[in-house]
Amino acid sequence: MKVTEHIKKANGKTLFSFEILPPLKGQNVQSIFDNIDPLMEFKPPFIDVTYHREEYVFKELESGLLKKQVVKKRPGTVGICAAIQNKYGVDAIPHILCGGFTKEDTENFLIDLDFLGIQNVMALRGDAVKSETYFKPEREGHNFASELVGQIQDLNRGNYLDEELLNTSKTNFCIGVAGYPEKHMEAPSFDSDIHFLKKKIKAGATYIVTQMFFDNQKYFEFVEKCRQEGITVPIIPGLKPIATKKQLNLIPHRFKVDLPDELIMAVVKCKDNAAVRQVGIDWCIAQSKELISKGAPLLHYYSMGKSDNIKAIATSVF
Ligand code: FAD
Repeated sequence: MKVTEHIKKANGKTLFSFEILPPLKGQNVQSIFDNIDPLMEFKPPFIDVTYHREEYVFKELESGLLKKQVVKKRPGTVGICAAIQNKYGVDAIPHILCGGFTKEDTENFLIDLDFLGIQNVMALRGDAVKSETYFKPEREGHNFASELVGQIQDLNRGNYLDEELLNTSKTNFCIGVAGYPEKHMEAPSFDSDIHFLKKKIKAGATYIVTQMFFDNQKYFEFVEKCRQEGITVPIIPGLKPIATKKQLNLIPHRFKVDLPDELIMAVVKCKDNAAVRQVGIDWCIAQSKELISKGAPLLHYYSMGKSDNIKAIATSVF
């Protein structure tokens, strides 16, 4: 079922969902199931599975020269989605990127998803590869997520890249896109970011999932601004509980989001990471309860591969 249908069916009740990462190459799918199992009692209508593009690593040869290798550390997004749908009978949502994909790759990826009965996709641009400063599309790829949404929507109309194909079948994907309550890091202004978000909706996206935020006011203002600009689709808040002291520096640096002083000081005072984890849980419970009271359609948690803290939050909230 489509995300938008799940939300409609819930009739105003806030739903619970979460995002998982494929395991590192070399681990099996059981490690994923071990994280999903404890969360199934909260009846997620869907589970997102992130996509991780290639990275460049440099290996030293005997000659002392460096050999550049392309590796994918977390492959398996599509396989995990199929395994989740098969094992739990809930919708799995693969993330799909512009980065590393030509239009042909994208089309073939979408055909696989369609054959597997996957009805939702989260369309993203992706970041630059780690060794590069700026995002570079493939030669025959997309520059921005709005173009990727356009291609998915074309396939929903039965338009494939090869215009000579006859009697093509239409796919029926529900398309989600990312939104940034604190603006995307590359956007020159909040207004321009909202302008391009609107472009993704115009291209065919029917729901938005936000970047993590730790101050609900940022989400409420973002939703208000979107509504003023005529964006009417559901805006799903993305939440991540802080889990380690290191994240105080890492999260603002990596995601360009602010942490409220009160949360920072609570973490600074912690003696160890077990205490930090509890602070993160308590903060996220408070955020979740307020979001529910203000009518958020669904709370989407970034599990980052560990579910014990998400379970503690969900137990208190749902
Ligand atoms: P876009 O919507 O393309 O926007 C990128 C930037 O370009 C923005 O600053 C925007 O304002 C600007 N822009 C957009 N269109 C135009 C235009 N036509 N002209 C000029 N500027 C424009 N990354 C992964 O690698 N894998 C994942 O699985 C993943 N999942 C994510 C899930 C969520 C909910 C979120 C919020 C992010 C996720 N990301 C993931 C990270 C995401 O790929 C990065 O944040 C990326 O830098 C931007 O992606 P986007 O889809 O928002 O890009």
